[in-house]
Amino acid sequence: MSPVTETDEHKALRSAVAALGKRYGREYMTKVVAEGGHPDELWSEAGKLGYLGVNLPEEYGGGGGGIAELSIVLEELGAAGCPLLMLVVSPAICGTVIARFGTEEQKRQWLPGLSDGTRTMAFGITEPDAGSNSHRITTTARRDGTDWVLNGRKVFISGVDIADATLIVGRTEDARTGSLKPCLFIVPRDTEGFGRRQIDMELASAEKQFELTLDEVRLPADALVGGGPSHAFGSGGEDAGLLQLFAGLNPERVMTAAFAIGMGRFALARAVEYARDRTVWKAPIGAHQAIAHPLAQAHIELELARLMMQKAAFLYDSGDDIAAGEAANMAKYAAGEACVRAVDQAVHTLGGNGLTREFGLASLITAARVSRIAPVSREMILNYVSHQTLGLPKSY
Ligand SMILES: Cc1cc2nc3c(=O)[nH]c(=O)nc-3n(C[C@H](O)[C@H](O)[C@H](O)COP(=O)(O)OP(=O)(O)OC[C@H]3O[C@@H](n4cnc5c(N)ncnc54)[C@H](O)[C@@H]3O)c2cc1C
Repeated sequence: MSPVTETDEHKALRSAVAALGKRYGREYMTKVVAEGGHPDELWSEAGKLGYLGVNLPEEYGGGGGGIAELSIVLEELGAAGCPLLMLVVSPAICGTVIARFGTEEQKRQWLPGLSDGTRTMAFGITEPDAGSNSHRITTTARRDGTDWVLNGRKVFISGVDIADATLIVGRTEDARTGSLKPCLFIVPRDTEGFGRRQIDMELASAEKQFELTLDEVRLPADALVGGGPSHAFGSGGEDAGLLQLFAGLNPERVMTAAFAIGMGRFALARAVEYARDRTVWKAPIGAHQAIAHPLAQAHIELELARLMMQKAAFLYDSGDDIAAGEAANMAKYAAGEACVRAVDQAVHTLGGNGLTREFGLASLITAARVSRIAPVSREMILNYVSHQTLGLPKSY
């Protein structure tokens, strides 16, 4: 595979997912959101068709592909108006981390379900007092015999109510100060002491965000990704956390780019359709360059963002984690910006109708901003490129 041209398999996957998305579409998602439900029918059908676990290993029920394939799935569902946000966390972050670093038992326990969508896993790293600075997270894991005991708080964690478990990023207690020494724990939803409160978000989204409290959450040794104490200094365990974390965060950025590009394409398509017909003078509004050019610009920017996303996915899938990191950050940045501008221009193109519920674009103004903020903000990516790529000094 090349990052620039798609294989026939990729094209076939793209059109098959697009066809599924078209059968559900924006109306389905709007109804689900209005009823406060979840897109269970779409999730389960996509799971049965093998789309949700397309990136996970075949021996555990996945499709044997990579993030390139999973990003196609999310982009096409988004372009059809029915994106599945949990794809970003469940198969992309959690599935990848478990497939790459989990023990044999963890793989058997989780991967088949994450692959066919019968099980889902949320991902929790963000904390109220750390925010963009993950080095400051204070969710700590303490040993008690062979058990682990977790204490801490998380915020803005998506889909905890529907996920069977949450992959919680903590740190070992003796590493409370100094640089981050993370460790990842699988915390089942109903574990004692694992509390959640839904955050009242101004977002029309089926997936809700939660504030989590971990109050003396007791977990068995095998809840630690990569294995318990006997593996601690081997390929898994406590000391392998940083590697595991980055293995999950790059797919997350690629998938956020896919989410943004899909949404941008959806909004742009609605605007183009409208601009072709709507006539208030002699010609359709799409003939006025003030309307046409920004739409053309939005299309170019989305295509460019996709190119960088494909490069990032290609690098990640070929095992080059370092190069994938830079490309995934740039792809997320480009896609977030392209999405925000495409949505803004789409709303503007529809005039008053851009703000009606009927045309369904106004709510995307808020939704589009998510890809600028999460999982890493625009500014933190600019910081990364300033320091890592350009070698400029740090201000913080
Ligand atoms: C819809 C939604 C879903 C989410 N889902 C999840 C999830 O499932 N799991 C999870 O762990 N997290 C999730 N998040 C959290 C998300 O990753 C964080 O919101 C994000 O990392 C930013 O952190 P913060 O909100 O604390 O902002 P802050 O870190 O407080 O930043 C606030 C502003 O300051 C800027 N800023 C901060 N530091 C600097 C600096 N050094 N230089 C320049 N500017 C700076 C930022 O760019 C930003 O604009 C979600 C967030 C949203 C909105």
